[in-house]
Amino acid sequence: MGTHRLYYDDAYLQNFEARVRYCEPARPVTTESGPKAAWEVLLDETAFYPSSGGQPFDLGMIGEARVFDVRDDGDEIVHVVDRELESGPVKGCIDWVRRFDHMQQHTGQHLLSAMFQERYGLPTVSFHLGGEINTIDLRGEEPKADALMGAQHAANAVIFVDRPVTVRYGTAGELAQLGVRKEVERGGILRAIEIEGADLQPCGGTHVKSTGQIGMILVRRSTKIRQDWRVEFVCGKRAEGSATVDYQRLRTIGERLRCTPEEISVAIEKIAAERDAHFKSLRAALQHLAEARAKLLLETCTPDGQGIRWVEERLRDENPELLLPLATEIAKNEKAVGLLIHEGTGQLVFAQHPAAGKDMNAMLKQVLADVPGKGGGTKDFVRAKLVESRKASAALELARKVFGRR
Ligand SMILES: [Zn+2]
Repeated sequence: MGTHRLYYDDAYLQNFEARVRYCEPARPVTTESGPKAAWEVLLDETAFYPSSGGQPFDLGMIGEARVFDVRDDGDEIVHVVDRELESGPVKGCIDWVRRFDHMQQHTGQHLLSAMFQERYGLPTVSFHLGGEINTIDLRGEEPKADALMGAQHAANAVIFVDRPVTVRYGTAGELAQLGVRKEVERGGILRAIEIEGADLQPCGGTHVKSTGQIGMILVRRSTKIRQDWRVEFVCGKRAEGSATVDYQRLRTIGERLRCTPEEISVAIEKIAAERDAHFKSLRAALQHLAEARAKLLLETCTPDGQGIRWVEERLRDENPELLLPLATEIAKNEKAVGLLIHEGTGQLVFAQHPAAGKDMNAMLKQVLADVPGKGGGTKDFVRAKLVESRKASAALELARKVFGRR
């Protein structure tokens, strides 16, 4: 016989009376506090909306039973509840805060999709109403910032003049004559939602009765999903929440930067420029330090039997950025080899003057076989980072052994 869907004709119905036609144990439901026993209930009529068409199901109570889930099953609506219900009359009550939020988001989606279609020729191919963010997938050219803002402004303009939102019924042919763009394959009488002067769309969802109740549409970002563009947006109370959080973030950033939210862009530019300048001067200072230190190290280093000067250095508290320039400076000297480690970060750099004739790469491989890490380079210059920084000394000892230094 099927369930009569009360929400089709009155999306604002929160409390209703119905008859329990069927109630049987179902598979346990996973909740935050673990698995819970569940029953499936069919009513003769219901105001509970089942998950469908991108809109999530309603929550609420049927008699003393709490509703976990509501499913669309052909002509029936299946309510999954937390206790057994007796056959016969029962009172139902839906969670109105959740439902009204869904109505704001869903009607906002119809309106926003219509604006993308009408103004930018971008059809919506799918819609998802999430717990926090909603998305529509648009097909066609990438909607750039001006299109995202243009569609948002146009949709909000329709909200501000508070146009009626009504339900229409008709066959696919009749609806097409009224201007429904979407091809509908289902036969029989169809339900469509009309936003006066803006949109007519086949839809089984619940909607607000006039655009003013959407409150506000706020478009967020757009990202590429396969061949389409996924546009994030929020409506109504969610838009208020998002804008509030945005401003709080800006205030926090402003406090940190000692400026007003309006001055943040300028302040960030200034900080980025300062950071770049500091980085440049640090580089220059490290280069000078590397030159001086390489000279000192080589002066106090005695060549081995083959005339090779081995320089070993363990850095601990110094800036690890010193490793590369120091190794480079050492290897500039005839027959010099530099074996450098940074104990704080587990980084190592081995470098040689080509005339030293060793193979740094082969040596590094042997070291990393024993002391795990990632790295590589050329015959003359290698760098690596160990998985465990405290093994840096062990890696240096191993390198000495491989080179026959001990
Ligand atoms: Zn819809």
